[in-house]
Amino acid sequence: MSKETPNNKIIHTENLTRDYMMQNQTIRAVNNVNIKVNSGEFVTFIGRSGSGKTTLLNLISGLDSPTKGRVFFDGQDIHKFSEKQMMFMRRNKFGIIFQSFSLLPLLSAYENVELPLRISGVKGSKRKEMTNSAMEIVGLIHRSKHRPYELSGGEQQRIAIARAIVNNPSVILADEPTGELDSINSEKIFGIFKTMVEEKKITILATTHDRTLLNLSHRVLEISDGKLI
Ligand code: ADP
Ligand code: MG
Repeated sequence: MSKETPNNKIIHTENLTRDYMMQNQTIRAVNNVNIKVNSGEFVTFIGRSGSGKTTLLNLISGLDSPTKGRVFFDGQDIHKFSEKQMMFMRRNKFGIIFQSFSLLPLLSAYENVELPLRISGVKGSKRKEMTNSAMEIVGLIHRSKHRPYELSGGEQQRIAIARAIVNNPSVILADEPTGELDSINSEKIFGIFKTMVEEKKITILATTHDRTLLNLSHRVLEISDGKLI
């Protein structure tokens, strides 16, 4: 993939640190992390289990708060946001993907993808158009009527990706999105990310412990014991 990316930063952190207290012991899960991510960039964080990848992404999405340091989205310190601003950012600017696909079992694939638009109050034909477009990007429009349990793990994760992008977010945060998938499906997921970056100018921050996926992103940052190395 081309190493050329636009150079307007969308996310950056300053001395980002998160401590957890465990029985009088402090665990520094994220240790003084400084990163800059440009708009339209696809960055992968690699690190072993327990290295701090999930904590880092949760701090960036605002799901967790730093012990020290700051996270900026479009130049604004997100941990100074009101609850309302935080909710707005998470609903409209970020698409979040987890390792376990967390689809609702009683809804069809289509209805799962459509749900964020219902929550945001997008109406009728607009909602249909946006849902179909997201289903098309992940190549599963023909599976619209299926329930999650009728889909393979790889397909379920592609539906979770469609759900994350249906609102046209600027940033996708994906925490070990291929953790439960085999290598063929894992490459497919990272391939979809690569296409989204190239065609939709979306920004992606993903984590993995799988080194075979690294050549698909623009930049790889390695994390060990909470620190970038
Ligand atoms: P990774 O996602 O790379 O596996 P995590 O961010 O989940 O790493 O964890 C980093 C470190 O922080 C680990 O030592 C983990 O045990 C610890 N940790 C994570 N979440 C918590 C928590 N809620 N309470 C206490 N310790 C935690
Ligand atoms: Mg993790």
